[in-house]
Amino acid sequence: MTNQKYELTIGWLYPKLMSTYGDRGNVITIERRSQWRGYSVKVLPLDQNSTPEDIKSVDVIVGGGAQDRQQEIVMRDLQGAKAEAMREKLDNGTPGVFTCGSPQLLGHYYEPAAGQRIQGLGILDLVSIHPGENTKRCIGNLVIEVTAERLAQDLRTMLGGATPYLVGFENHGGRTKLGKVEALGQVVYGLGNNGEDGTEGAFYQNAIATYSHGPLLPKNPFVADWLIQTALRLKYQQPIALTPLEDSLEMQARFAMLKRLKVNTTNPEAVKV
Ligand code: GLN
Repeated sequence: MTNQKYELTIGWLYPKLMSTYGDRGNVITIERRSQWRGYSVKVLPLDQNSTPEDIKSVDVIVGGGAQDRQQEIVMRDLQGAKAEAMREKLDNGTPGVFTCGSPQLLGHYYEPAAGQRIQGLGILDLVSIHPGENTKRCIGNLVIEVTAERLAQDLRTMLGGATPYLVGFENHGGRTKLGKVEALGQVVYGLGNNGEDGTEGAFYQNAIATYSHGPLLPKNPFVADWLIQTALRLKYQQPIALTPLEDSLEMQARFAMLKRLKVNTTNPEAVKV
């Protein structure tokens, strides 16, 4: 299949420092699902060797999880013109998926278990605080219902009217409190942003921020397609219909997990771990 007229550049934030917990799977999923449709794809690492122009050149951004120490190194690098380029991209609707440590960096600040507060980019109106090494980490399967209005509507359409559940896995010490930014979703199983208010993640313009590893996109491939579609629409200034792919195994795996966690797919019942 060739469809070389469409090209996508995936910007991958600090691959060497922010790819713990398998989040590179999100990059691979966007890459493969684009290539299967015949688009040409480039993966551009956005790291210490990158310029603000590199950041400006990408069509979709992926940021993975990191440990506290790595987050600090990244934040020392992501300053000045590079920080501004990131802000401009997200403010202007470049789509992206940011997991765990990445949303903490896009917020106002992150307070690690030990050491100094790490200043964030302040693009997302949220703060994250790790209550200390003796506090239990939030670990386990995670299911959310996407409630961010525009995204929920798009995903529901892609799922033929079904509730847009996302299946994943969380592993974080930090607890996130949202300010005025819209939550990505509501926790159906697991702990989410802080284990208290039932929110999970954040949604800003076209940026999806989440605590959900898994990685997220291979487990919920329709989200990858939403990112691809959004990136193409923005780049080519017209809606581009994606060729459907054969996803029955992925959808079966997702359904098996929902069943195992006793999430009634028509009438969700919140289950705390
Ligand atoms: N270091 C952060 C925390 O523990 C992020 C962890 C992660 O990215 N999985 O909250």
